[in-house]
Amino acid sequence: MATTATAEKPIWFFEEGNGDMRELLGGKGAGLAEMTRAGLPVPPGFTITTQTCLQYYELGRRNPPGLDDGIGAAMTELERRTGKGFGDPANPLLVSVRSGARASMPGMMDTILNLGLNDQTAEGLAKLSGSDRFAWDAYRRFVMMFSSVVLGIEKDLFEEQITARKKKLGVSTDPEIDAENWRELVADFKQTVRDHAKREFPQDVHEQLKLAINSVFDSWFSKRATDYRRYNKIPDNWGTAVNVCSMVFGNLGDDSGTGVAFTRDPNTGAKQLYGEYLRNAQGEDVVAGIRTPEKIADLERAQPEVYHQFLDIAGKLERHYRDMQDLEFTIERGKLYMLQTRNAKRTAEAAVRIALDMVAEKLITKNEALSRVSASSLDQLFHARIDPKEKYEIACTGLNASPGAAAGQVALDADIAEKWGSEGKAVVLVRVETNPNDVHGMFASRGVLTAKGGATSHAAVVARGMGKPCVAGCEGLQIDMRNRTATLGGKPIAEGDWITIDGTTGDVIASGLKLIDPPSTLPEWLATFLSWADEARTMEVWANADTPQDAVKARELGAMGIGLCRTEHMFMQQERLPIVQEMILSDTHEARAEALAKLLPFQREDFHGILEAMQGLPVTIRLLDPPLHEFLPSQETLLVETTELRLREGEESPSYREKMRILKRVQQMHEQNPMLGLRVCRLGILYPEIYAMQVRAIFEAACDLKKHGVDVRPEVMIPGVGTKEEMKFTGDAARKVAEEVIAERGVKVEYHVGTMIELPRACTVADELADHAQFFSFGTNDLTQTTYGYSRDDAEATFIPRYLELKILADDPFQVLDRQGVGSLMQDAVRRGREKHKELKIGICGEHGGDPSSVAFCHGLGLNYVSCSPYRVPIARLAAAQAALGSLK
Ligand code: PEP
Ligand code: MG
Repeated sequence: MATTATAEKPIWFFEEGNGDMRELLGGKGAGLAEMTRAGLPVPPGFTITTQTCLQYYELGRRNPPGLDDGIGAAMTELERRTGKGFGDPANPLLVSVRSGARASMPGMMDTILNLGLNDQTAEGLAKLSGSDRFAWDAYRRFVMMFSSVVLGIEKDLFEEQITARKKKLGVSTDPEIDAENWRELVADFKQTVRDHAKREFPQDVHEQLKLAINSVFDSWFSKRATDYRRYNKIPDNWGTAVNVCSMVFGNLGDDSGTGVAFTRDPNTGAKQLYGEYLRNAQGEDVVAGIRTPEKIADLERAQPEVYHQFLDIAGKLERHYRDMQDLEFTIERGKLYMLQTRNAKRTAEAAVRIALDMVAEKLITKNEALSRVSASSLDQLFHARIDPKEKYEIACTGLNASPGAAAGQVALDADIAEKWGSEGKAVVLVRVETNPNDVHGMFASRGVLTAKGGATSHAAVVARGMGKPCVAGCEGLQIDMRNRTATLGGKPIAEGDWITIDGTTGDVIASGLKLIDPPSTLPEWLATFLSWADEARTMEVWANADTPQDAVKARELGAMGIGLCRTEHMFMQQERLPIVQEMILSDTHEARAEALAKLLPFQREDFHGILEAMQGLPVTIRLLDPPLHEFLPSQETLLVETTELRLREGEESPSYREKMRILKRVQQMHEQNPMLGLRVCRLGILYPEIYAMQVRAIFEAACDLKKHGVDVRPEVMIPGVGTKEEMKFTGDAARKVAEEVIAERGVKVEYHVGTMIELPRACTVADELADHAQFFSFGTNDLTQTTYGYSRDDAEATFIPRYLELKILADDPFQVLDRQGVGSLMQDAVRRGREKHKELKIGICGEHGGDPSSVAFCHGLGLNYVSCSPYRVPIARLAAAQAALGSLK
């Protein structure tokens, strides 16, 4: 066949391509090409390009002109190479048809094996192989696969017939079914096709091939493929390639077999071949779990020569690709064939350990090692997981929508979840799908399991936002709300029964398993790896921490400062809340001053703990932010209470009058839009004594510590500044108190007063703010809220999931920084701020500080640090390194 190698060429024989051609040939095609080129034993075949798939769509799901002829010619060439005939009963050529996108998309389309079988070629195959049983087993498999994948008939319809047949024959496994029974089943299957697809099962092998290829193209826009792409951020316009490969058979006797293997252990990263092998079996048997496969090491005993040849090839491929490989192979009557090689998927722990090992083996450089580990995958290491010692059966599997494992009692609605949660029970909320009315139940649960919905469903998005494990779209879960019953993988499960969900893998287990909490310190291998990241990165990583314990954790995980200490959390604590309420409700200046004086020692103690834990490093303390009414009882509760008191004790009673006073004050303070009302620095300007108390507490703690030789570096941060006047007013006031305390205590403490940049206006007047602020910290939570005009708490629970589905938003802007809108405001603020002060220290402390893509963006902006929650510090350290090395944009 003529082989003019141009990108327009729709069909490439394996030896024509190479490993760099993933874009055109897909991952599988490029791997097969590279192996063929390297002289490894690969059965002959060809790849139809991703480009052709895109043309197919452009033409309204029609093959581009000339493609059918091209496929015909390629099949003729394949016949020549194999010495077999496609559709020839005397010596039939059979092929496999498999999809293969640029990025691996497991489960996008099932493989079709044994294509080319029909009533005649099946007879031919029986003669040729000397086994009727082999031939009819192969044919029934083909009819099943083709009918379910291409003709869209439920696979269960065929499985049911096999089960019934086994029952009739009194046998329990497929291998016990003989040739005659398979032959009869094939006839029954063909009837099923007639009944359900309203057509005959195609006997023309060319028609089979065309339908199969088109079905692979079609699968690119199947729901599961589209969902998978959306979740993994794979563009729609990549298309999938189709690989047509001549069949080799692993089920031709005991010297045949099939298997999958990883060149290292994908769970632990250990350097040893890891995989499974099934003697006398075809590829899908391994995946289908019909028989328990043997360990790959068992092959060494059975067929040592083949095993060593495989070991040798595995080593070569790993060295060639300089990465762990995931291999598929088949042995046909003692001869080894390689069917696939690709970079293997692995757990985060394995990824880090393999990267470390490969540097030690001089296979890759340190910088390459850093780019080999996805920063966000490190998240896995900081969630609870199922104890690996647990032995369990997976009841069913859904989408791994939010990482971590949770075990708890099944609650079938949000109210019961909330009730049980408040009783201290461990609960898993189990729903068909969730909606905003379920959010209270999600809060009360350890994890969420839904029968429907994808990775961007309400359950998934909200659970991720809450940091709770979630398995979504679990088809093996059926719920009957009328009778309040459910089944998991076909078995009944009652409300209150224990289950375990693993949001990292998507597995659901019908019992409560032992979980392992995330490590409290960095394991040594991770510490080493992250120390490499620290060498490479230029931007610092700080943490958001409100308590000394969080500060200690942050430091252990490598934080180089506290970028945000939210002081309102300190106001919420139980023994303090009544004093805070007293302070808010006081009618006179004196009464307020008295309440604040009572709060001062508590705050001083808080700051003392954090400053001490972070000695030698900066601690950014943000003055009080939220609206005051958040600390008060709700109007509804007060209305009920006053009514009750009036009825019970009368209008003149002191307790009724006091309650009424509180109610009036709460009503006075009521705001229509509290998020845009009396909060941030506006609160500190209306009630300057609150900020004065906080600043005093900071500096009393700092001076005391300094006196004891502790290196303290407090940074006072004013929230929500939008004008230079606000900045000047609050900044001057803070400095005044700080200086007073320093003078009183007679110790010098270095400090800075800066501002959060969390309003669009602040970005546009950042140069003026820089006159009064010594540092900036982007509060991108509020900056996103105010730029989009979305209320964060409401948006994530209501319309954002739908927006993601409709692609109105590519990402949730509260998780991944919106570069175009919010980002350009930030860029403006950085430019203006640094125009005033070249060395102005600028960081970010919104949630985005722990998101890899946002970290990369901040690196590009030239920020000095990102600050994120303690457990995300390792992620941000790696992301900052990857951004500096250019491997994360
Ligand atoms: C922010 O707005 O980004 C921020 C960190 O402040 P908060 O989330 O407390 O409003
Ligand atoms: Mg904010």
